[in-house]
Amino acid sequence: MSFETIKQKDHEYIMHTYGRYPVVLDHGKNATCYDTDGKEYIDMTSGIGVNALGFCDKGWVDAITAQLHKLQHTSNLYYTTPSIEVAKLVCEKSGMKKMFFSNSGAEANEGVIKAARKYSFTKYGTGRSTMVALENSFHGRTMATLSATGQETYHNYFFPFVDGFVFAKANNLEDTLSKLTDDVCAVFMEMVQGEGGVLPLDKKYVKAVFEACKEKDILFIVDEVQTGIGRTGSFFSYQQFDIQPDLVSCAKGLGGGLPIGGVLFGEKTEGCLGAGDHGSTFGGNPVVCAGSLEILNRLDENFLAEIKKKGDFLKKEISSMPHVTDVAGMGMMLGVSLDVDAKEVIRKCLDNGLMILSAKTKVRLLPPLTITRKELEKGLTILADVLKSM
Ligand SMILES: *Cc1c(COP(=O)(O)O)cnc(C)c1O
Repeated sequence: MSFETIKQKDHEYIMHTYGRYPVVLDHGKNATCYDTDGKEYIDMTSGIGVNALGFCDKGWVDAITAQLHKLQHTSNLYYTTPSIEVAKLVCEKSGMKKMFFSNSGAEANEGVIKAARKYSFTKYGTGRSTMVALENSFHGRTMATLSATGQETYHNYFFPFVDGFVFAKANNLEDTLSKLTDDVCAVFMEMVQGEGGVLPLDKKYVKAVFEACKEKDILFIVDEVQTGIGRTGSFFSYQQFDIQPDLVSCAKGLGGGLPIGGVLFGEKTEGCLGAGDHGSTFGGNPVVCAGSLEILNRLDENFLAEIKKKGDFLKKEISSMPHVTDVAGMGMMLGVSLDVDAKEVIRKCLDNGLMILSAKTKVRLLPPLTITRKELEKGLTILADVLKSM
C-alpha cells in the first residue's frame, strides 16, 4: 500500500484525535526504526516515553513470548505470579508498600484520586475531598484527570467536569501553602512537568510543600507517569527530591510498550482500599507484567548511572547548538528552548531521519533508555544540521 492510500484509509476510519506526521512506521531495533519505504530514523521519542528498552529488545520480547505460551490473561479473581513479582520489585526500588495495577497513566491517576479521597473520608468524614494540583500540569484524559490538569485548554466542551480540584502555582511556595486549607485531602504534582514543557520543580519547594502536607495529614501524591522507571536517572524522579510520597502513579515506561499503569501506596495509605473498592479487568495482565519484569530486573544502579551520563551528554551537546537558548530537564527527559519554531525543527528532523517530540513551545527528547552512544551521535548530527540550516 502506498503512503497516500494508507493515509486516506486512516482518515476514513480512524477518529481524528491526533495530527499525524506523514510517516508510516514499520519496524525497529533499539533506537533505530524504519518506515514502510525502508527509510531509517533515530528515535528520540520512545513512543512518548514508553519504549524504555527501545524497539523489540530481545530479553523483553522473549519474556513476553514465553508468558504468551503459558497463559495470556485470567481475571483478578485468581493469583498469577508476574504481577506479584513486578509489584515486589517496584516497591523495593521505590520504598512504597503496595501496588494496584491499571492499564494507563490516566487510569493510574484515577486510582490515586480515589485512594486519596477514601483515605481522608475514612479518617475525617465529609468536607475534606479537595485536591491541590499545579498550574500547567498534565494528568490525563479521563474526566477526573482532565479536571486535575491545570491547563485551561483542557477544560472545554466536556462539561460538567469533576469538582474538587484547585490549582497552585508551581515553584511558588507561598501560593501553594495558601491552598492547603482544611478541606484539602491531597497535593498532586509531577516532579518534572512533562506535557507542560519539561519544567523541573525546585527541590526546596517540593520539600517544603511535602513537610507542610505531613504536618496537616494532607497526602503528598506524585505523578510519575512520564518521569518514572528510570527516565530521569533515578527509579522514580521523587527519589532525587529527598521525599517519600503517600501515593504514586506510574505507567508509560513501566511496560516498555505494552499497556500498564500502577498506583503505589505508602505507609499511610497501604490499608486504604479493600476488596470491591477499585478494580480493573485487564490490570496486572501476566503478559504485560512479564515484559515489565524484564525492565525492572535490568534497571539496576549501573543502568541508572548510564541514563544520567547519556542525559548529561545530550544536554551538553545540544546546549552548544545554534538557536538553542536553554536545555531543561533531568536524565533523559529533556526540553530544548529555541529561538526558532520548534514545530518546524521537528518536521525537518523527521525529514532527515530523526524523531523528536514537542512540549508546548519546546523540543522534547525522551529517547529509549537503552539508546547507544552511536545512535545518540547519529541523532545529534541530524539535529545540529537542521538547526544550522535555520
Ligand atoms: C502521559 C501522561 C499521563 C496520561 O497517561 P495515559 O497513559 O496517556 O493515560 C498522565 N500524567 C502524565 C504526567 C503523563 O505524562
